[in-house]
Amino acid sequence: MPRTDALLAEPALLEAQARLGRALVKRAVLGAQARVRAGELAPDLVVDAALASLPATAAGSLHPVLNATGVLLHTNLGRAPLSAAALAALEVAAGSCDVELDLATGARGRRGRGALDALAAAVPAAGGVHVVNNGAAALALVATALAGPGSATGPAREIVIARGELVEIGDGFRIPELLAATGARLREVGATNRVHLRDYAAAIGPDTGFLLKVHPSNFQITGFTSSVSVAELANLGPPLVVDIGSGLLAPEPLLPDEPDAATVLAQGATLVTASGDKLLGGPQAGMLLGSPGAGAQLVERLRRHPLARALRVDKLTLAALEATLAGPPPPVSRALHADPAELRRRAEALAARLRADGLDAQAVASLATVGGGGAPGVQLPSAAVALPERYATALRQPGDGGNRDRDDGRGDGNGNGGRDDGGVPAVLGRLEAGRCLLDLRALPAEADERLYAAVRAVSG
Ligand SMILES: *Cc1c(COP(=O)(O)O)cnc(C)c1O
Repeated sequence: MPRTDALLAEPALLEAQARLGRALVKRAVLGAQARVRAGELAPDLVVDAALASLPATAAGSLHPVLNATGVLLHTNLGRAPLSAAALAALEVAAGSCDVELDLATGARGRRGRGALDALAAAVPAAGGVHVVNNGAAALALVATALAGPGSATGPAREIVIARGELVEIGDGFRIPELLAATGARLREVGATNRVHLRDYAAAIGPDTGFLLKVHPSNFQITGFTSSVSVAELANLGPPLVVDIGSGLLAPEPLLPDEPDAATVLAQGATLVTASGDKLLGGPQAGMLLGSPGAGAQLVERLRRHPLARALRVDKLTLAALEATLAGPPPPVSRALHADPAELRRRAEALAARLRADGLDAQAVASLATVGGGGAPGVQLPSAAVALPERYATALRQPGDGGNRDRDDGRGDGNGNGGRDDGGVPAVLGRLEAGRCLLDLRALPAEADERLYAAVRAVSG
């Protein structure tokens, strides 16, 4: 058995240590040695086996996944995939950069000016903008500043909100509980299915901090329903905050029921809050957009609030957000606007290739969804490759029989030192009627070759 120290001094493993650090490489070596001891591996293959079992990056717990679920914004897959433009911006921002410095004068600059300018340019109707960590942070900030107990505002005040808008956003987190956690008091109005202008009007009083309208972004109530428009609420007097959730900045014809920041501001909202990693297609972020005048003053107050520092975004987020706003359409909007006939053509071509390889594969019609807290109930015509059901599990964990994280140093099946350039990515499909569907709507055409390779890799 080659000694561990000797193995770690092998050129290829030294190079790997420079890239991944000694601990990860040593773990891979120990795993390969264990396999030799168990009689599973010839001693002269120990270096190759260790290399093959290395993770692609030092963040070895994160694996690239092809999203073939047909859910454009899959929360468990990190919501919006970033554009190439955003990736390039991340690369620049990752080093030292002028995030808070004016290179012309050498003086301190406004942090994230580029991202804020890009957001303001994308929504000319806004009088002021600010960015925080996510949509929930934006709500927490405004609730604290306008209704929380604090020296600036006096005792806790009320947030007037419709009962039908007390949304649970995911993973057990609920907007009403988030708001209450700031110390603000909730004043619920209306019934689950119906709320009227008079309900709001009756609830408004000296204790009112603001009115909050929350977009039901992940469910639909149908039947005997009514809600109150932004324009009507805006006339009631108190500041009106509208949480649109999905982050559309302008109307999207394909999603006519999804609110957008420009329209909601034009209808009279004081402040709009939204997420950056939903339909905007950018990094996790919370956007705050104020109306000209009162909204802009509010944004400035929020920006200077002590809590703003705790919710501030890092330079990576600012870089990716600016590039998403200023650059070409990100993957989410490309997926949203994909031509169904083109998706069908891609599915036919993939299925034909797989059939030629002897696999049981067919192109089928499919229905995709936006998911991730946007456009509930909207179905987007799509196309998928249908495979036998057992493929679903194998595709999720290519090459290792399902034990990605075990420590015995087994390869991840990439066969190229664990790097993901050209390796086999995991694929998440969707089970439907006893078949594993690989829906192409959320994947760019450029991914088809990797999808084909992934299916072939597990079809043996
Ligand atoms: C998604 C969503 C949130 C939470 O936003 P995060 O960015 O996930 O914190 C809040 N409100 C609505 C309406 C949402 O859709």
